[in-house]
Amino acid sequence: MVENEFIKQLQPYLLGFEQKSKDLFIFRCPFCGDSKKSKKKKRGNLYKNGGKFFYHCFNCNKNTTFYSFLKDINYNLWLEYRKQVLTDNFCLTKKDDIGNVLTKSDNKVKKISTAPEILNTLQIKTLPFSHIANQYLLVNRKIPKETLTKFFYVSPESFYTFSKEHLNIPTSEIATYYWVGWYFYSVFDKDKIIGFQLRKIEQLNETKIGGGLRYFIFKYNSNSLKNEDNNLIFNYSNCNFSKRFYVYEGVFDSLYTKNSIALTGISKYLFLLDLSEEKRKNCVIVFDNDFKYNKEVSKILLKVLSKGMSVFIAPPHLEKEFKDINELVAKQGYTSEDIQHLIDGNIYSGLKGRLELQNRKKL
Ligand SMILES: [Zn+2]
Repeated sequence: MVENEFIKQLQPYLLGFEQKSKDLFIFRCPFCGDSKKSKKKKRGNLYKNGGKFFYHCFNCNKNTTFYSFLKDINYNLWLEYRKQVLTDNFCLTKKDDIGNVLTKSDNKVKKISTAPEILNTLQIKTLPFSHIANQYLLVNRKIPKETLTKFFYVSPESFYTFSKEHLNIPTSEIATYYWVGWYFYSVFDKDKIIGFQLRKIEQLNETKIGGGLRYFIFKYNSNSLKNEDNNLIFNYSNCNFSKRFYVYEGVFDSLYTKNSIALTGISKYLFLLDLSEEKRKNCVIVFDNDFKYNKEVSKILLKVLSKGMSVFIAPPHLEKEFKDINELVAKQGYTSEDIQHLIDGNIYSGLKGRLELQNRKKL
């Protein structure tokens, strides 16, 4: 068990550390200092109960989970531990079918049967400007005001309740986070929600840990989903594929141009290949600026070019400066109009696209 390993590493930090049995460790309580008179007294206990480790002190009565204990005793070790348990245990709880446990990492789809009401979502436009969700979207991300209606807010309390039900991750930790989310709607019935995604609101001074925990995607279990309804793609149900449309990796990048969708992960591009030739001609792929280093991205761009779609390639003078579209807006002051112009002015297709990609890689 991973906890035993971490506990052993705590030995130098705990006075009188002693292993009593496989799952019981005792030492002088680091919180109260234990007995002043007797150095022999060791009333701090790390013990296992129901498959999990807990801490208890028989002197000061401190009671806590191993997770919090470790955080108090050795922060760096806790970061390591957290990284490990998040990747090890990140899947659905036993309540869900084994077949529905799709993933261990973040940003993969989780299937659930519960309606989103459990989240107590709030329409962001009804919240004051000073609210953390508005600050995140309008000030940090600088999304256009008129797109606020596409988002909802989830409080830490609400997410806590929800995560206890659906996520097997340390809940005391995530209970402090705030979230924004967006729904995925059915293409056949635009009032019907087929899933949703949550994005953690990053706060200042926050320690970033291993990239995990930032995004969650949930998909409702349903046997009646038609093929096209399976696409958990942002703004898919509103997109008109019969005129020029833009395809982005991330939701926040997709808000500045008209008729745009976001894949929420590049691997979801595959459905584009099934569109009719006519519609594929209308498609402009706007991925993050990493095709030079990311082989997967590079491969996809060549693939879509061969299928008659177009790609956006940032002009050379911008190449070093930006990572994705949202960054140009949030950090460099571009407006929606600037973005629309930038993209429309740098679209490549066919052989010309291939050559341009090759040339840029050499730069
Ligand atoms: Zn104590």
